[in-house]
Amino acid sequence: MDAQERTSVLIVGGGLVGLAMSAFLARLGVPALLVERRSGPSPHPRARGVNPRTMELLRLLGIADRVRDAESARALAGNHGIVAVETLAGRRLGELAEPYFRGVRDPAGLSPESWCMVHQDELEPLLRDRAVELGAAHRFGTEYVGHTETDGGVVATVRDTASGRTAAVAADRLVVADGAGGGIRERLGIGTHGPGALARFVNIAFTADLTGPLDGRRFIMCYTTGTGTRSALLPVNNTDRWMLHVLRDADDASLPGPDECAALVRAAAGVPDLPVRVDGVLPWVSAGRVADAFAAGRAFLVGDAAHVMPPSGAFGANVGVQDAHALAWRLAAVARGDAGPALLDGYDAERRPAADHAMRQAVLRSRDRPRFVGGGDAPPPDPDLEPDENVVFGPEPDGTPGRRAPHVVLPGGTSTIHRYGTRFVLGHGPAGDGWGRAAAAAAADAGIGVDAYGGDDAWCAAHGVARDGAVLVRPDGVVAWRAATGPDDPGALAGALRGALAAPVPGAAR
Ligand SMILES: Cc1cc2nc3c(=O)[nH]c(=O)nc-3n(C[C@H](O)[C@H](O)[C@H](O)COP(=O)(O)OP(=O)(O)OC[C@H]3O[C@@H](n4cnc5c(N)ncnc54)[C@H](O)[C@@H]3O)c2cc1C
Repeated sequence: MDAQERTSVLIVGGGLVGLAMSAFLARLGVPALLVERRSGPSPHPRARGVNPRTMELLRLLGIADRVRDAESARALAGNHGIVAVETLAGRRLGELAEPYFRGVRDPAGLSPESWCMVHQDELEPLLRDRAVELGAAHRFGTEYVGHTETDGGVVATVRDTASGRTAAVAADRLVVADGAGGGIRERLGIGTHGPGALARFVNIAFTADLTGPLDGRRFIMCYTTGTGTRSALLPVNNTDRWMLHVLRDADDASLPGPDECAALVRAAAGVPDLPVRVDGVLPWVSAGRVADAFAAGRAFLVGDAAHVMPPSGAFGANVGVQDAHALAWRLAAVARGDAGPALLDGYDAERRPAADHAMRQAVLRSRDRPRFVGGGDAPPPDPDLEPDENVVFGPEPDGTPGRRAPHVVLPGGTSTIHRYGTRFVLGHGPAGDGWGRAAAAAAADAGIGVDAYGGDDAWCAAHGVARDGAVLVRPDGVVAWRAATGPDDPGALAGALRGALAAPVPGAAR
């Protein structure tokens, strides 16, 4: 084994979430090494629904515009809705129009960003390149083999997949981003809860000109009964690049061959002589499963390593990227010495309930979809189904500590959301001049930087404070503390800041 190298954080897994983790840490100046078994990003277009919260985080990283400019994002920018048909060329069965899908709150009032449809095989290279631009270290073709925890950190063994040579890497902490099947969670002795495996699918990526049967429609997804089983057609470029998800028997782990795949595509399209090229076939099991703990000792689970959920709702990868962001500022604060290790306890305390909520809602959505595809006199949707916005943003952002800080457009046109992401921020109303001094004193007391800005009357209304009130917002955009009125007690803000650096914010459940 080669001589041991040292880093602050070792990230295992270079999928979407591991790459996001590496970019967030690099942006905050935390030395980290990412190891990934594959020699490059995954070539398969899997996730594609990037929600507005994740787009906010991609803007923070400086790549939101690059992502919106990706080929699939440009092609799919005008696509809306989920429809059901017998075949693409045949009879229409219906359109998903349930309130949980359409939303009950105006999304523009919740975020400066909107949804973006971009395929994972395009998003991952953009994240990888940005992370490297920010100074991240990545080692593709390198496999994690195992690790031991010492008093001062972890020591992991990694293996070069080409040469077979092993090396030791010492780190203060380990971030486990090895996906649903990586195995480190089990090795750490962490179990899971949830309904488990729900259905077995194959995802067929194919090239075929469907513009004829498509007839100008621009949907996000199209359920089809033409294959004789539950299936869905997903556009990649609205013309000749597509994916077909096909339900398989629960105990059938076999993969369909190219001829069977092409026949399934023709059946879904309703065009018996359609020329089809099969580009890839990916088996996957739709499941609902959340880890019983998101941390063990010095190891922290993020992404599919921590939670898997059905794709209905497009929550999985988004929750994973948000895990990474929620963990990054805590790791950075502890690495800099701004906070003690207890700050890291808040990661499990806050992210696990968020993942549980998203998983339950994704499972409810996946169970609801056959009802809508069936058409006719379908029963009403499950009363526990909540609007997408509740999953994406959590409870109503109204300035309550523990919730996402509200999006308010500030004079000049920028959003409050753009103020958050790096340091603690104190926002105050137009009559709250004394807060600037209080913020400086609290920052000096805690030994960290605190930014401050002033809002207008609309800002006060959105945050539930008087014109001289204030809110303290954490680097992850969660309200840590709120003062309804002026800074009467100069020590209160300093106490709140010290508290937010020491422990989870009470009520910060998702
Ligand atoms: C068909 C489909 C459609 C989906 N649609 C959506 C959607 O629209 N929106 C959404 O949000 N989510 C969606 N998802 C879910 C999304 O794809 C996953 O949540 C996401 O890929 C998880 O990313 P990850 O980085 O956590 O895990 P992965 O992408 O699985 O990455 C884990 C990585 O770890 C590596 N690894 C594992 N073990 C080791 C080791 N020992 N050493 C080194 N490297 C290792 C693997 O090679 C892999 O690259 C979909 C999933 C599927 C299957």
